[in-house]
Amino acid sequence: MPVVAEILIPLALDTPYSYVAPAGLDLAAGDVVQVPLGPREIVGVVWGVAESPGGSNLRPVTDRLPFPPLSDPLRSLVDWIARYTLAPKGSALAMVLRLPDEAAAGETARVAVRITDKPPARPTPARTKVLAAAADGGLRGKSALAKEAGVSLSVVDGLIDDGALETVAVAPEPVAPRPDPDFPRSPLSPAQAEAVAALVAPFPWDRPPAEDSADLRPVLLEGVTGSGKTEVYFEAVAACIRVGRQALILMPEIALTAQFLDRFAARFGVRPAAWHSGIGGRRRERLRAAVAEGEALVVVGARSALFLPFARLGLIVVDEEHETAYKQEDGVHYHARDMAVVRGRLESCPVVLTSATPAIETRVNAARGRYRHILLPERFGGRRLPDIAAIDMRLDQPERGRFLSPPLVNAVKSTLERGEQALLFLNRRGYAPLTLCRACGHRYQCKNCSTWLVEHRFRRALVCHQCGYAERRPEACTECGTFDNLTACGPGVERIAEEATALFPDRRVVVLSSDFPGGAERLRQELDAVAAGECDIVIGTQLVAKGHNFPFLTLVGVLDADIGLTSGDPRAAERTFQLLQQVTGRAGRGEKPGRALVQTYQPDHPVIAALLSGDAERFYAEEIQAREAAGLPPFGRLAALIVSATEREVAEAHGQALARAAEPPEGVMVLGPAEAPLALVRGRYRFRLLVKTERNVDLQAYLRAWIARGPKVRGNVRVAIDVDPQSF
Ligand code: ADP
Ligand code: ZN
Repeated sequence: MPVVAEILIPLALDTPYSYVAPAGLDLAAGDVVQVPLGPREIVGVVWGVAESPGGSNLRPVTDRLPFPPLSDPLRSLVDWIARYTLAPKGSALAMVLRLPDEAAAGETARVAVRITDKPPARPTPARTKVLAAAADGGLRGKSALAKEAGVSLSVVDGLIDDGALETVAVAPEPVAPRPDPDFPRSPLSPAQAEAVAALVAPFPWDRPPAEDSADLRPVLLEGVTGSGKTEVYFEAVAACIRVGRQALILMPEIALTAQFLDRFAARFGVRPAAWHSGIGGRRRERLRAAVAEGEALVVVGARSALFLPFARLGLIVVDEEHETAYKQEDGVHYHARDMAVVRGRLESCPVVLTSATPAIETRVNAARGRYRHILLPERFGGRRLPDIAAIDMRLDQPERGRFLSPPLVNAVKSTLERGEQALLFLNRRGYAPLTLCRACGHRYQCKNCSTWLVEHRFRRALVCHQCGYAERRPEACTECGTFDNLTACGPGVERIAEEATALFPDRRVVVLSSDFPGGAERLRQELDAVAAGECDIVIGTQLVAKGHNFPFLTLVGVLDADIGLTSGDPRAAERTFQLLQQVTGRAGRGEKPGRALVQTYQPDHPVIAALLSGDAERFYAEEIQAREAAGLPPFGRLAALIVSATEREVAEAHGQALARAAEPPEGVMVLGPAEAPLALVRGRYRFRLLVKTERNVDLQAYLRAWIARGPKVRGNVRVAIDVDPQSF
């Protein structure tokens, strides 16, 4: 009987397609294959095989491809994600499959050159320089040698032609150097040792699975900033790789710095393999292969690393688990922390979540015993948490057009006089968040989005932070034509830098935000330079709040602690608390104690009060109570449907038709459609429906049935489903 293979194709398709396996091709679930689809050939994955009499009418599978098959747990993860997020199964597969693109395929082998004992035919001065540089007999890349000698590449090529230099093929740099779990390390503090013992004891790596002392619940490793959580989970990583199993460390993309990689190297002797959007084609594929073969023992990566084909996964760490960067908000809307927990379950491997300020959901899971909870209550090495004080801006106003209050300026001054660093934190990129004409009142708005254009003085442009649209900052008002009336309203980091430079003209001021010129690599270098003490005043957005260790930094000034508290989002308090805890925690991580000054108009707001008193427990208790009373996650379930179209009426009408088809049963509430918080993005108008259900309702089943009976999607209407939206 013919063998029929169900092939899942990495496109927006919900179900696999059937093909017949040609004679002689023995297919198994997980195999990566090539199949015809319409007029073209495409890559897919075998989702199932069965003998079936009807098979002879089907098109045959073209061939099996030489890629590692997808393991059972990984295929289950794809099924799980599709079911949970309601994304097409093929779209979920696409995240796992990401095959090399054509452009990436042809990486040239690395070639190095070495001096021979044959003298060159014509010893010109340039050639002599090259030979002098190569005289030690070492291997060097061609361009490195040319650069070292200060000559052009053609001189080196000439010497190769002459035989005075010879070329040697070298093995490419290993993508996955082997970390040594027993590399000598500095001793753990008693608190850390205790945490390590508690963390690792129930993990099953060195025991036969039958022996059921394993406790595979996820672990929340909670501890204030600087408490030494990283060193604690490094020990779990060590224990895992000691028995040859692989560990995955997930980080919010921004925390993936050279600093972290170096810290890893200090513990394990080598830097770990890093997986992020910056690594290019061929290297990416080699790393993926090393992961699939179990060669790469530790991978550190941003959220997409979760979909790597590990052969023997033994541990997943989600560092800073509360970070919003873990939520993907386009395509498949998934939360990498939650999916890490799912993958851990499917692979029967432990998952460790770390945070100084856990997400409310995670805290509740720990309180209910669904997660184990391990606490590191104090900073490592007896270091104190910074003293935090508020500056009441109603009493201590800066001069007009200035943003640094007198007490903050004084604190910066004395910090710099002691030779220490100050960080001024403002979570706003650019120069000013709003530009307005004083003569006619015109406000400059994005033409594609419902957002104000943000002035970037350095680029001399008005920029939309939503879609990237930019225009030159006009000389005269584009509405009324008058000159000299355009006014920058409010501060961004560039404007604070201007103020700081005026106040401290002979100090080195650096602005760190995602606009940093020169891209991610330059930014990483700059962060490392700050850590090395090579600047006096750092002015930064949330980019500097997280994951970095600046040993010379002793003062943190928060410029506008109230940003975010005023939005209607029920998560605003949690977010603000997390961000402020984190940024103030940057102070005093080195030898010297730190302090933080927080400019606020609402010193009595519960978030600010909790920050000042350091009473996180109380904050969590109150937040959790408020969520429970409102039936919000994790006490109820939420999903958002975003309906968008290029015409406002079309989007709204579709939203209304959906609402009419909602038919919410007992325990389900449907709200909207209402204009989405961002009502216009990239030329598309957006309306939002919110679904709120009780905890025991099968939210996905309800959504599926609703969408199925709802209006057909026509024209350019799009409906995006976001289960567990992060803002609501
Ligand atoms: P967290 O991740 O909780 O914020 P870290 O793990 O970054 O804390 O530790 C804070 C600081 O203490 C870091 O500079 C780290 O190098 C140092 N540290 C932590 N544990 C040790 C240890 N056992 N020995 C030496 N230094 C340590
Ligand atoms: Zn825009």
